[in-house]
Amino acid sequence: MERESWASTAGVARSMRSNRRRDTSPELALRRILHARGLRYRVDFAPLATMRQRRADIVFTKARLAVFVDGCFWHGCPDHATFPVRNADYWLPKLERNRARDLETDAALADAGWRVIRIWEHEDPTDAADRIEAAYRASP
Ligand SMILES: [Zn+2]
Repeated sequence: MERESWASTAGVARSMRSNRRRDTSPELALRRILHARGLRYRVDFAPLATMRQRRADIVFTKARLAVFVDGCFWHGCPDHATFPVRNADYWLPKLERNRARDLETDAALADAGWRVIRIWEHEDPTDAADRIEAAYRASP
C-alpha cells in the first residue's frame, strides 16, 4: 500500500517551509534571546576564509564559536526526519549529502580551532540559548 505523498504530510510541509536558508523563526527566536542576554554575534557568516560556502547561522568570531540551527528535515533530525516516500531516489542522496557536508564542516572548523554547536530547529530556543551562552562564557 502506498503511503501518502511525502509533501502532503503536514510535518514535512512544515519542515520544508521552515527550512529556508536563514532567518527561520526558530533561529530568529534564538537570536532574540541571545541578543537580550547581551551577546553579540554575526549572522550568516563564514567562519573559515578557506570555506566561504560554509556559513554558520550565528558566529562569535572572537570566541571562535560557530552555531548552526539545523532544520529537522534537511539535516536528518533523529526525532523528526520524515522519510520521503515519494521520489526517495532524489531525496535520500540529497539528504545524505547534507549530513556528510555537516560532518565535514564540523571537522574543518574543529581543525581550525573553532567550537561548533548544532541546534535542532525543534529545540526550545531558551534551552538552546543556555547551551550557547555557557559555551560562550567558557571561551578561553
Ligand atoms: Zn527535530
